[in-house]
Amino acid sequence: MSPFQTYTARLVRTLPLSDFTKHLEFEILQAPRFGFVAGQWLSLKQNTPEGEEITRAYSIASAPEESNRFALCLNRVQDGFMSNFLCDMKEGQEIRCQGPFGDFILRPPLRDTIFIATGTGIAPFRAMLHWLLADPARHQYKQFWLVFGNRTENDIYYHREFQELASKHPFFHYLPTLSRAGPNWQGLRGYVQEHVPAVVHGRGEMHAYICGLEKMVKANRELLKSLGWDRKSILYEKYD
Ligand SMILES: Cc1cc2nc3c(=O)[nH]c(=O)nc-3n(C[C@H](O)[C@H](O)[C@H](O)COP(=O)(O)OP(=O)(O)OC[C@H]3O[C@@H](n4cnc5c(N)ncnc54)[C@H](O)[C@@H]3O)c2cc1C
Repeated sequence: MSPFQTYTARLVRTLPLSDFTKHLEFEILQAPRFGFVAGQWLSLKQNTPEGEEITRAYSIASAPEESNRFALCLNRVQDGFMSNFLCDMKEGQEIRCQGPFGDFILRPPLRDTIFIATGTGIAPFRAMLHWLLADPARHQYKQFWLVFGNRTENDIYYHREFQELASKHPFFHYLPTLSRAGPNWQGLRGYVQEHVPAVVHGRGEMHAYICGLEKMVKANRELLKSLGWDRKSILYEKYD
């Protein structure tokens, strides 16, 4: 399949992740297997009631499989057309897409790595971490940190899943941090960038992957550069 071919994806399963966020699983109708690299995104297309075609990018939130399936992690954007259209889709409904696209993928050689995300910026990291941790030949027992920022406990998408991955793989360190935590929250507080220095301090060459809205991506890139990081070791994807 060429990434520029337009094909049809059918929604097979939806799971609410929070009041405004959903995990959506699709299957591609035209092919028995859908090939992509963890971290890539798809272009989804839908016409408005006025007949205007809207196209938006969405990171694939699942690891590549020997199947025609992929998942998205979707946040409703206020007054946005596509995010609300997708969150309102019913199982069995179909949508046009193109892809996969993008080079926000793991760079060889694999090093110790920090993944930094806020909100639905977690999507490509869910794909990368499931792919990496599934096979020692892939993860090579390097150290991995996921610094995942959200507002409240209810917004930590895939929380249980990341906790389970961390308990199974001692070299994967899961660090959720909340900017508006309730009094019972035992974990980290504040913005993601406040926790990055402690992770990277005193380590050898690492890679950093950052994904989310521009403001957060910029703050973390600037921080890492101020800590002496080479820009080639910092990879990022901006959603806005
Ligand atoms: C490479 C890439 C991957 C992406 N992956 C994902 C993903 O996995 N999950 C996901 O939910 N979104 C993702 N996005 C964002 C997505 O493409 C859309 O921008 C978003 O869903 C809004 O589209 P819309 O048509 O609903 O709103 P629009 O009509 O495009 O936007 C409405 C308003 O909201 C602002 N806005 C746009 N995006 C956001 C946002 N994410 N948060 C807050 N305000 C915003 C716009 O500036 C505009 O003012 C990704 C973007 C890129 C470039």
